[in-house]
Amino acid sequence: SVKDSGRGGLAVHDPHAADGAADRLRLLQELRTALAQGEFRLHYQPRVRLAGGATTGVEALVRWQHPERGLLGPGEFIEVAEASGLIRELGAWVLDSAVAQTAAWNAAGVGVQVSVNISTRQLADPDLVLLVTSALARHGVPASQVVLEITETALMVDPETALSTLQVLAGLGMQIAVDDFGTGYASLTYLQRFPVHELKIDRSFVSGVVDSAPDRAIVGACVHLARSMGLVCVAEGVETDEQRDVLLSLGCDLAQGYLFSRPRPAGSRP
Ligand code: C2E
Ligand code: MG
Ligand code: MG
Ligand code: MG
Repeated sequence: SVKDSGRGGLAVHDPHAADGAADRLRLLQELRTALAQGEFRLHYQPRVRLAGGATTGVEALVRWQHPERGLLGPGEFIEVAEASGLIRELGAWVLDSAVAQTAAWNAAGVGVQVSVNISTRQLADPDLVLLVTSALARHGVPASQVVLEITETALMVDPETALSTLQVLAGLGMQIAVDDFGTGYASLTYLQRFPVHELKIDRSFVSGVVDSAPDRAIVGACVHLARSMGLVCVAEGVETDEQRDVLLSLGCDLAQGYLFSRPRPAGSRP
């Protein structure tokens, strides 16, 4: 079967995807077991400065080391975790692991920022602030080293709760990034209302930046918006030298993508 993969794309349906209620329930049980047995992993993808190529940070991306099916990406399980509420436990594990790894890199003398994805449900969780601050305290990592990535959609589900939570987190010194910028349904006024430090331009625009004039115009407008509001601008999913050159000429600050590195397990250096 075929399903809409967003922004004009069609994707062949993954035969392992959990469609029916029974499949989803089985996956949920497996996820609970996986959490208890420590089968989740974090991979880290560097964020580099487009001018010069220095690594300024990494994004933590969750993986599941499945006993039979091998290493699975979040596309295979994050939706079921989110829908069931298991994302709270998984998200707590992700935060703690990412902060622990940041502390290990600090101890090795390489301080970088670590970006962590926060789901819609996590953002609505009144315990999020406590979860983040206790992870920082446990591992002795300053709040300024953490970037929390949030989508526009997550901001809009319960804007009042999101606003007060993000104000506390930003007040403690954490950076807030808007992930997949340009693909949500929020009005731009949230950029004034919420404490936002960074815009991550979605890969769907970046992939067209060389050949598509409209995509280049959209990316250029995002870069301009970010710069004029004093926000860091990050291009997601940069795969070619040509894309990097165009992004640099448009004035984009940072980039992530296979051109620089795929996400990979933590080594001694980020
Ligand atoms: P995202 O946060 O927008 O992450 C970027 C995705 O693009 C990652 O996919 C990354 O592996 C992939 N990517 C990076 N560079 C390239 C490139 O050059 N080309 C292509 N084609 N892809 C690239 P991944 O790891 O499969 O994650 C997918 C999504 O799952 C993430 O999108 C994020 O929304 C969610 N996710 C990942 N880890 C977590 C997590 O720990 N917690 C939560 N709540 N969500 C997560
Ligand atoms: Mg992200
Ligand atoms: Mg993204
Ligand atoms: Mg994305």
